[in-house]
Amino acid sequence: MVPTPRYAGERVVVMGLGKSGLSAAASLRASGADVLVWDDKPASMAESTAKGFAAFDGKNMNLSGVRTVVWSPGVPHSFPKAHALAAKARAENIPLACDVDLLLEAQTDATVIAITGTNGKSTTTSLTAHLFQHAGRKTAVGGNLGIPALDLEPLGRDGTYVLELSSYQLELVPHLACETAVLLNITPDHLDRHGGMDGYIAAKRRIFAKQKPPRTAIIGVDDAHCAALYETLRSDGLHTVIPISVKQPVNGGVYVTDGVLIDATGAQPVEVLDLRTVARLPGAHNWQNAAAATAIARAHGITHDVIVSGIKTFPGLKHRQELVSTQDNVAFVNDSKATNADATEKALLCYENIYWIAGGQAKEGGIVSLAPLFPRIRHAFLIGEAAEAFAEVLKGKVSFTLHADMQSAIKDAGEMALKAKQPGATVLMSPACASFDMFKSFEHRGDVFRETVLDLWAAKRAST
Ligand code: ADP
Repeated sequence: MVPTPRYAGERVVVMGLGKSGLSAAASLRASGADVLVWDDKPASMAESTAKGFAAFDGKNMNLSGVRTVVWSPGVPHSFPKAHALAAKARAENIPLACDVDLLLEAQTDATVIAITGTNGKSTTTSLTAHLFQHAGRKTAVGGNLGIPALDLEPLGRDGTYVLELSSYQLELVPHLACETAVLLNITPDHLDRHGGMDGYIAAKRRIFAKQKPPRTAIIGVDDAHCAALYETLRSDGLHTVIPISVKQPVNGGVYVTDGVLIDATGAQPVEVLDLRTVARLPGAHNWQNAAAATAIARAHGITHDVIVSGIKTFPGLKHRQELVSTQDNVAFVNDSKATNADATEKALLCYENIYWIAGGQAKEGGIVSLAPLFPRIRHAFLIGEAAEAFAEVLKGKVSFTLHADMQSAIKDAGEMALKAKQPGATVLMSPACASFDMFKSFEHRGDVFRETVLDLWAAKRAST
């Protein structure tokens, strides 16, 4: 646990009692703060008060003497509509900060690398941490991924925090003083939470706002929003800006040409490795992640050879094109993390004969943008709230069936693919939707996929 001694003797309200809120409450209490907790859900309140935390009075909302409101990033504070407690705190000039901010305030001696982007954050963060660990650096990885920030190890002067930051978190980190900030890409997402595209871009930009020297800003320049930001930062004279591209060579940056990763941050461009040989980083989207991680590692003095062997030994992440099983040349791939069409597009690009399981809670725009990839899809198995809307888009272009649950979709998809015996056949669960209509989370959805695939085909094997 990271202690938060700056809050000793101070009154702090913790709003939102999920994993990160509870971890913040625990650290604050252990450091001598006067902690009051609040959550709109009675069950979460009961769980926290049972742990001995005093309840904040959410009706009166008395904020006198409160130094900070620790706000759970998952709880909307400004959009789609203002939350009464957030509005009151702002009116009284009390900061709203998430658990990551408390970590940054507590660990000012450690090196901080912050990573954001619409897609690829977790992969880039994990790969970066892997490269640092591979180089023997004292490293902790967290933020929007894995372990809550204040449950990480206190690292101090010789340690490096590699933090994944969502746009929600970026609105709640007033003390984000990182040496290295990374923005991978920007495409529309979470617009309801940011009051539109401008608000979303503004949240992402905050990653660069309070950087510490050498103020290294690593930016993917392949989309127009990020390319514009790159130009702005390059001309402000404050940042050391390193471009990343998988579309073109970039001077002074890291880029990928025909799958080959090139490091041009030094005097001469140097070939790092051919990413097409790295099975755990499939597809051109992952090339962007590998390029960013390489740029980060180079900026922190990790050598070429360590980067090469680090990329080769990266174990990959669950729920991101995770190969669960192969049965009679049919691959079963769990891409549950693809919660929007942009992420699903990346997976569809990687396979030819696809038996596609999709649906859930639809995002704005649905799957219309995926039409150019429909010829790769042999059949779609649609689930969840979005099933009928997706069916409308597919009508006349791709054959489809509607399914009551994930299990029946997997069973039918598997049987159809095994029967058809096409080369490179893939049952791909890449839903282009949020999971909350049928599952607790995307992890839960992916776990159900994995378990069902393994159960069904283990059972089939046993009976034949
Ligand atoms: P995030 O943490 O930003 O959601 P992940 O690394 O977990 O990103 O990847 C989620 C999904 O997004 C992947 O399954 C893949 O489909 C897609 N993806 C990954 N990296 C990129 C990228 N650089 N650009 C576009 N899409 C990506």
